[in-house]
Amino acid sequence: MTTGGRTVALIVAAGSGSRAGGAIPKQFVAIAGKPMIAHAYAAFAAHPRIDDVVVMIADGAQALAFAALGNVRMVVGGATRRETVALGLAAIDAERVLVHDAARPFVPAAVIDRVLDALDGPGGVDGAVGAMPVLAVADTLVRDGRVVPRDGLSRVQTPQAFDLATLRRAHADWPDGEEATDDAQMVRRLGGSIALVQGDVMLDKVTHPEDFATADARVAWETRSASGFDVHRLEAGEELWLGGVLIPHDKGLSGHSDADVALHALTDALLGTIAAGDIGTHFPPSDPQWKGADSARFLQHAATLIADKGGRIDFIDLTLICEAPKIGPHREAMRARIGALLGLGEDRVSIKATTTERLGFTGRGEGIAAQALATVSLPR
Ligand code: MG
Repeated sequence: MTTGGRTVALIVAAGSGSRAGGAIPKQFVAIAGKPMIAHAYAAFAAHPRIDDVVVMIADGAQALAFAALGNVRMVVGGATRRETVALGLAAIDAERVLVHDAARPFVPAAVIDRVLDALDGPGGVDGAVGAMPVLAVADTLVRDGRVVPRDGLSRVQTPQAFDLATLRRAHADWPDGEEATDDAQMVRRLGGSIALVQGDVMLDKVTHPEDFATADARVAWETRSASGFDVHRLEAGEELWLGGVLIPHDKGLSGHSDADVALHALTDALLGTIAAGDIGTHFPPSDPQWKGADSARFLQHAATLIADKGGRIDFIDLTLICEAPKIGPHREAMRARIGALLGLGEDRVSIKATTTERLGFTGRGEGIAAQALATVSLPR
C-alpha cells in the first residue's frame, strides 16, 4: 500500500491500430470531432487526483500527436505494448501510475477515483499493489459450440492503477520474448494482489471500424439554435451576390465586402450557436483587407469554429426579404452553393423568400434583408 506522493497517468497510444482499417492509426481518428486520444487525455488532465499525464506514441507519430494534443508530454514507445509501457515507467517520477489504453477514449472520473481508492484511498483494499476496472460478462459464452460457464469471468478494462515501484519490478522480471495482455497480469505473476473495481461500458474499446459510430453516439450532444439578421442597400452599378450566387439584376447590394446579405445573416446565426460574437467581431468593416471580400470566406470561418469545437451543423433556414429580384429561379443554385460551402446535404439547407407588400425599405426596393436560423449539435 502506498501513501502520498505523485500520481501520473500513462496513456499508451503507440499502436498502429490496423484493425480499424484507416489510413492513420485509430487513436488519431476523430470521434465527435476530436481525435480519439484527445478524449482520454482530457479526462486524465482534468482529474484532480492526477498530477501529470504522459502519452506514449510510436516513433514517427510525433506530428500526428502534436496536431491532436498540442504541446503535451510525449515519450516514444517500443515495438510491443509491454516495451512501450516499460519505457513510460522509466520516464516518469511518481509514487503511483495509471496505465491506460488510448483505444478506450471515454474515461469516467468515477473509475479513476475507484482504482485510486482501491489502491490506497479511504477503504482501500488491504495489500493491493494494483487495481483494475472490470465488468461482469452478460452474454452467454461458447467455445467450439459448447457453453462456457460465466462464473468468475469478467471483462478487464483500463485504467489500471499501480504502485509504480511494483509495476517497474514486474516489468523488469518479465521473461523476454513472452507477451502480456495487460499490466495487472504482470504484477500478479510477482504475487502482487490486484483489487477489482467496477468498470464502465463507457470504457469499451474502439477496435473495429463500426466501433467509431458507437463511440460517437456515446458522446452527449446538445442542440443549439441561433438566429442572424442583416440588411444591405441596393444600388445601381453593383453586382448582386445573394446566397453565394451572382444574380443578374439592375441593382446590386453595396457594403464593405461583397455585401451578400444572405451569407452574412447565416454567418451570424452560426456564430451565435457557439456564442462567438458576430461577423463584425471576426471581420471588422474597418479592416481594409475585407473590402470586396467574398462572403463565402466569412461563412466558412464560422463553420470552422464550430468544427473546432467538435460540433456539426444540422440544419439552416434562411429567409430573404425583398420585392425584387424574384428568388424562386435562383433558390436551387443558392441551396447547392451554401450546401457545398458548409458540407451539408441540400435537404439541410432551406431557403425561403417573402416580400413586405411594398411597405418599408424592402418594399420600395431600397435594400434586401435576410434572416437566418442555424441549428447545430455540440459535444457537451
Ligand atoms: Mg452585412
